[in-house]
Amino acid sequence: MARLGSWIESHPEGIYVAPADAWIDPSRPKAKALITHGHSDHARAGHGAVLATAETLAIMEVRCGPQNGQALAYDETIRVGEVDVRFVPAGHVLGSAQIVMEHAGERIVVSGDYKRRPDPTCACFVPVPCDVFVTEATFGLPVFRHPDTGSEIDRLLHRLHSDPSRCVLVGAYALGKAQRIIAELRQRGHHDAIYVHGAIERLNQLYESLGVSLGELRPATGATKAEMAGHIVIAPPGALNDRWSRRLPDPVTAMASGWMRIRQRARQRNVELPLVISDHADWVELTMTIRELEPSEVWITHGREEALKHWCMTHQIKACELNLVGYEDEDD
Ligand SMILES: [Zn+2]
Ligand SMILES: [Zn+2]
Repeated sequence: MARLGSWIESHPEGIYVAPADAWIDPSRPKAKALITHGHSDHARAGHGAVLATAETLAIMEVRCGPQNGQALAYDETIRVGEVDVRFVPAGHVLGSAQIVMEHAGERIVVSGDYKRRPDPTCACFVPVPCDVFVTEATFGLPVFRHPDTGSEIDRLLHRLHSDPSRCVLVGAYALGKAQRIIAELRQRGHHDAIYVHGAIERLNQLYESLGVSLGELRPATGATKAEMAGHIVIAPPGALNDRWSRRLPDPVTAMASGWMRIRQRARQRNVELPLVISDHADWVELTMTIRELEPSEVWITHGREEALKHWCMTHQIKACELNLVGYEDEDD
């Protein structure tokens, strides 16, 4: 019998699905690409044809220009070459999908990036049992256990309300995390205006146009210190320590990221209020997902592969690492 999943090839620049003659999230331009989600390490410019969800295509058009794209709705099946392809929600960011492929009597699921906890800005991860589960492992160490999101948001609000003369500046990745923080704040009953950095505005507008309500947002550029006092300001992580933040009224510097679990990382960025809020599965979610899907094999794409591989082996699941390059972990 042929090796399981022998029709999938792992190359440094991505996963090649031979009977579909297509690449998944390739890091270099390809004739045909299946894209899991809009983060720049997965969705690059320059492909000949792109198959993705409508939301991911819209995000790619904002970030990389016009696409020769075909939109696939969740759960719709399309034949690509000799492979049946279906996208199901990955719960990572708006439009994010796992790619479910059936060929030669085998089902392979490529998760892309994913998380299991609810996110008000995107559809929840849908578990699909499979023969081979291709998973990320960004937070694939037992030390990574993300706390409850609501309690992190409450810490943020508590800090904001404790000194109305200051603002709280939250560093959040521009695609996904920024909109999620805003939506989580609204869910927690915070309906005040939130100020946003210019680099986030277009994506906020796109989310709104795709049906994700973010409430009252105001540009931080041009606002006075007095106006922003007592308010939350959201900016990309790169803006936290640069000149831009000097316009803000004595900001409490916060950052929303799974990496904030590591004190050292918070200190490096001069983060006073680390918020452990991640768009990636933590250790519990990774191992819970593998238990639930019961795959014969787990292939690990990027992150801390060793510990997860070891965990799989101790649970009698064959596991290996795909040595892909070019995936970053800043979209955490
Ligand atoms: Zn991502
Ligand atoms: Zn990624």
